[in-house]
Amino acid sequence: MRQRVCILGSTGSIGRNALQVLRQLADDFEVVGLAAGSRWQDMMAQAREFKVAHLAIGRPEYESQLQGELNAEQKLYSGEEGLVELIEHCGCDCVLSAIVGTAGLMATVRAVEMGKKVALANKETLVVTGPVITELARQTGAQLIPVDSEHSAIFQALHAGSAEEIHRLYLTSSGGPFRTWTLEQMKQATPADALAHPVWNMGPKITIDSATMMNKALEIVEARWLFNVTHDQIEVLIHPEAIIHSMVEFRDGCLIAQLGTPDMRIPIQYALTYPRRLERCGEPLDLLRVRQLRFEPPDRARYPALELGFQVARQGGSSGAVLNAANEAAVEAFQAGRIHFGEITERTMEIVGRHKWIEHPTLEQLLAADRWARNEVHACLTC
Ligand code: NAD
Ligand code: MG
Repeated sequence: MRQRVCILGSTGSIGRNALQVLRQLADDFEVVGLAAGSRWQDMMAQAREFKVAHLAIGRPEYESQLQGELNAEQKLYSGEEGLVELIEHCGCDCVLSAIVGTAGLMATVRAVEMGKKVALANKETLVVTGPVITELARQTGAQLIPVDSEHSAIFQALHAGSAEEIHRLYLTSSGGPFRTWTLEQMKQATPADALAHPVWNMGPKITIDSATMMNKALEIVEARWLFNVTHDQIEVLIHPEAIIHSMVEFRDGCLIAQLGTPDMRIPIQYALTYPRRLERCGEPLDLLRVRQLRFEPPDRARYPALELGFQVARQGGSSGAVLNAANEAAVEAFQAGRIHFGEITERTMEIVGRHKWIEHPTLEQLLAADRWARNEVHACLTC
């Protein structure tokens, strides 16, 4: 029996990589649902190739154009509720959550409620709803398998010991495009500078997050919820070659790492096929070509976002929702030329510092905290 997969965000960087993986694994997997935001022609082409019957378009203004393209077997869902309906009706066993930001959050929550296997690329889901979704998954038996390369590495390394034996998790970071820039240069950075990542080819939002190191801050919070560790069990290491994707240090001092070429198809495939390992996609790792692996401590003065990530991981509760929403709105403002690069983190920190913290929030309270933080960023832009 083939595993039935639904891809939320099929036209993005992760979505397209996932379809490349699935093209090679057609004997084991069937694609039964696809969702995208606006690039409906691309999604239709994918639907034709993979013979997908259930489609969702996040932006309802494209619904009528898409309707005209459907065949008799195909069904279309639209808007944010449409993404949830797709999960409910497409009959999938596994959901790849790869919509950028919080647009796919409720659909991912629904997949967890339904006890499905969730391959989680969208780290925002865990940052925003960490305390709620991990508990929900425990109740429904839904599996949350990380796709983020660092968390996939840790997830794999954790097979070498038990949760009680974890001493520390090392999250590695390539250092982003500004690793060797001066602070002055960084202040003047444009969206085009921030979009030039030295190693990974990803969507624009996560690429800008990598330049501010907010991506690592979000990953600290993601790791805190996914692996149920405390903030002081997490360490960040700059590793420019991006070959070691992260490590676990166990209490006996042994470090277990996962190494590989920087290619997102590897963690995507692992999440889909887990607990099995199937034939490799992409290039094998040639250590003799890499020759050296370097490590540096992160410069916390250059990247204040890191401190913020640790603070939010320590606080827990509603802090993650505010961190994520404030950052998302600030990144949009930077892309629109309304704030400088340095202000992304400044404004996010200021809003996290001001929010009314809730220790044990409900999902509704987390969504309200998200809305409040976005409004605060917009209010700041006009003041
Ligand atoms: P991307 O910008 O390339 O793609 C985003 C996808 O989301 C597209 O398919 C787009 O159509 C869809 N989308 C946007 N708004 C939508 C809406 N309102 N309704 C429905 N669909 C919508 O982004 P990406 O780089 O693929 O990243 C996706 C997620 O994976 C993010 O959460 C990111 O943090 C995470 N992630 C990405 C990478 C990577 O290498 N790209 C690595 C780790 C984690
Ligand atoms: Mg990552």
